[in-house]
Amino acid sequence: MNVLLIGSGGREHALAWKIASSPGFTKLLTIPGNPGTGRYGRNVPFPLTDYPALIDLAQQEKIDLLVVGPDNPLADGIVDAFQAAGIPAFGPTAAAARIESSKSFAKEIMAATGVPTAQSHVFASAEEAAAFARESGKAWVVKADGLALGKGVIVAETVDETLAAIAKLSAIPAGHHLLLEERLYGREVSVQALCDGERLWPLPPARDHKRLEEGDRGPNTGGMGVIAPVDEVTPALLDEIVNRCMQPVVNELAARGTPFRGLLYAGIILTADGPKVLEFNARFGDPEAQTVLPLLEGDFLGALYACATGHMQPNLLRRRKGYAVCVILCAAGYPDRPRKGDLIRGVEALDEDQVLVFHAGTTLGPNGLCTAGGRVLGVTGLGSTLRQARERAYAAADQIRFEGKHFRRDIGQE
Ligand code: ATP
Repeated sequence: MNVLLIGSGGREHALAWKIASSPGFTKLLTIPGNPGTGRYGRNVPFPLTDYPALIDLAQQEKIDLLVVGPDNPLADGIVDAFQAAGIPAFGPTAAAARIESSKSFAKEIMAATGVPTAQSHVFASAEEAAAFARESGKAWVVKADGLALGKGVIVAETVDETLAAIAKLSAIPAGHHLLLEERLYGREVSVQALCDGERLWPLPPARDHKRLEEGDRGPNTGGMGVIAPVDEVTPALLDEIVNRCMQPVVNELAARGTPFRGLLYAGIILTADGPKVLEFNARFGDPEAQTVLPLLEGDFLGALYACATGHMQPNLLRRRKGYAVCVILCAAGYPDRPRKGDLIRGVEALDEDQVLVFHAGTTLGPNGLCTAGGRVLGVTGLGSTLRQARERAYAAADQIRFEGKHFRRDIGQE
């Protein structure tokens, strides 16, 4: 099978690695890719918004399946364009991807189907939201409706902070509508599931660490590390999350004529009243993909193709025993102004049975591999216990060297 993969991060390296190790794999093209995806095929610089040209390329290259990593092309309708050209795609159409690209739409679907989530109010202007917040006399979680690269949510502690958050988020493009949401308390877990439009196939539950510094301090980032599976999520709890929080959404999207095919990601908070949904994503998390994909065995590409064509066969994939811990090595200055252009050493000497290194912000320069972005590498340790997986990830993280390397030492430490 010939595959076209969209994206350039650690998630896409993990997808490329897993796709290339599948039995039916023949060829991979990645747009734009990175040195990691380049190991399994060709990286092609190509304008993602020129759909006719993209489809011409896919037809010339006899592409059998499009796999989309990031959220923006999904929201822009890349899958719709491929479907119209008769090329199967793993990823939802723009209509189904609204479950991520519009938080008010996600709330509407959850309300319609009784999915447990925080109470919220939607406003078309900052003034209305501010008036409501003042009158309530309470602090709120403030959310921009649209896609905001993980910068669209502020958990305010006071009314004044709520008002400041409303002013800040209404100024970004995604803040055309604002949500004020009741604050929930509990531990968070992410459940990602493959979906063929009707059924869900959950992957091992994961827990991410979004803050830059140890102890969950510092600014929010795209993610500094992930562990999987999360033991707290027993098989019974996983069933409850899938059946109460995710399946009703899949049923509703199908009933509306916009079935969800691809990866449905539920950000869940485990409250005293049971699991509740914080958000949905319409694609693999990054670095959740680098953590969870190494825990799967079987025909990954076959499973993606089966979802894309509406016929998932659950026996295509199995969960591997053991744990994975992914630690993100980022550049000095990340997330605001990451330093770039430093040589990276020590990646080659690693034992791939125990540690996988996924490229994100890297480039191949004349002198070798260099840093080229904020999150540089994802280092995933594998082990039969969480502790062993952590130790392997950290041993490798210490061995890899580049100027300004920063990572959290507490990923997976309770
Ligand atoms: P992502 O980059 O993952 O898409 P996002 O910008 O869509 O993130 P959310 O995942 O909705 O934002 O929220 C980010 C974080 O804010 C959550 O992980 C959670 O810690 C916190 N949060 C969001 N909603 C609530 C809530 N109702 N109560 C408490 N905390 C919340």
